[in-house]
Amino acid sequence: MDLREHIRDIPDFPKPGIVFKDITTLLANADALRYVVDSFANQYRGRIDTVLGIESRGFIVGSAVAYALGVGLSLVRKPGKLPSQTYSASYELEYGTDTLEIHADAFGHPCRVLVIDDLLATGGTAHAAVELVERLDGEVVACAFIVELGFLGGRQKLGECPVHSLVTYD
Ligand code: AMP
Repeated sequence: MDLREHIRDIPDFPKPGIVFKDITTLLANADALRYVVDSFANQYRGRIDTVLGIESRGFIVGSAVAYALGVGLSLVRKPGKLPSQTYSASYELEYGTDTLEIHADAFGHPCRVLVIDDLLATGGTAHAAVELVERLDGEVVACAFIVELGFLGGRQKLGECPVHSLVTYD
């Protein structure tokens, strides 16, 4: 399965100079969607206790992987979306900062966590998610992505944390 055939480049979205990797075309293809979910599920079967999905495209693949593995799904969301007590982590953007939140009781203990998002770019988002898991005394087994933009160095930003991506653009 060559996933590249199912990922669409949208130049200058959401702003000039960015090439947006559109995975809606991948999600719409039954074989490609199954391939993505099975790839992650087969790799982590029996090795994790929960999937942590990052808002919002991480929710889509994350929930399917959690279902396939028979584990629960925990959520990391943008500020102000989670209704109960939260912890937050901020990270640098090109201009300014962004913040992610997790419920204080997002998962039980001990907990082996698979962090899932659609795409790894600079790694700021995933790094903040890892920080939140560790704040809750969870163990990050790996961070998994459909797409990795290798030239942006996100893997280095995640340091010791194992990074699993299905397609890398260099
Ligand atoms: P980063 O924190 O720089 O690793 O950015 C990762 C987050 O931003 C993910 O949630 C992606 O969905 C989104 N993202 C960043 N760059 C792109 C891109 N070129 N195409 C699609 N999504 C992107």
